[in-house]
Amino acid sequence: MTQTVRVYAGECTVTYHGSDELRIQRGRVVVVHKPDGTVLVHDAEGYQPVAWLTRSSAVHLEQTEDGEFALIAVDDGERLRVESEGDSARASHDVTPAGTAVGTCPDCDGTLVRARGAVTCLDCRAEYPLPRDAGMADSTCDCGLPRMSVVRGARFEICVDRECEDLDAAVRERFDREWACPDCGADLRVVRERTLFLRCEDHPDCDETFALPRETVSGACECGLPEVGGGGSASDEATRCLDSNCDEDRSSPRTPETDR
Ligand SMILES: [Zn+2]
Ligand SMILES: [Zn+2]
Ligand SMILES: [Zn+2]
Ligand SMILES: [Zn+2]
Repeated sequence: MTQTVRVYAGECTVTYHGSDELRIQRGRVVVVHKPDGTVLVHDAEGYQPVAWLTRSSAVHLEQTEDGEFALIAVDDGERLRVESEGDSARASHDVTPAGTAVGTCPDCDGTLVRARGAVTCLDCRAEYPLPRDAGMADSTCDCGLPRMSVVRGARFEICVDRECEDLDAAVRERFDREWACPDCGADLRVVRERTLFLRCEDHPDCDETFALPRETVSGACECGLPEVGGGGSASDEATRCLDSNCDEDRSSPRTPETDR
């Protein structure tokens, strides 16, 4: 999907109509019309537009044969009209999300950027959505795409393309049946329903479920569930049971980990 920004320039009358405001300005301005319906009117100074509508619901362009134009943006009780007075210039440009460069597209050699929750190719526009808390790993997948780093009880470094390497499969392989249900002793299974979580195998007879921690497992609780947190061996930060309601006493000093 190609996205286009339209740019208009010239002497204009700019009329902004808000719920209790009418503002009319005239000047030589540059008008930027973004693909999401945002219209910005810039004059000679500052970063701030002199008039604007963000993500307007409709933008309409009227043109005359002698090169004049009127751009009208409307949204929920607001109306912005920019009308050229005399000669005007206009141009269209392809645009993409802008973000940190994270690699090169294996399909077209374009630059891959991480922006707005996805890795996107600036040329072919291939898009790979990322989990919200994903970081970028230093490694590159065999397919040529960069890998992301996601913590779900452990750190997983997998391809940004789910069809190439699947986070669910990796988490399942690592943690499916790893722990027993503290209530009934059956295995905890890795399940996805919108998010990944642990659910007792005896579901629906046993309704125990636990979120998969967005940190690494650091030990084992007396109840059988993992402990998470602690910030690594060099940290004083307390670890806690995966079950926030766990009754095992954690206030007394912990003895060194023994094999069980
Ligand atoms: Zn590409
Ligand atoms: Zn891959
Ligand atoms: Zn159970
Ligand atoms: Zn516990």
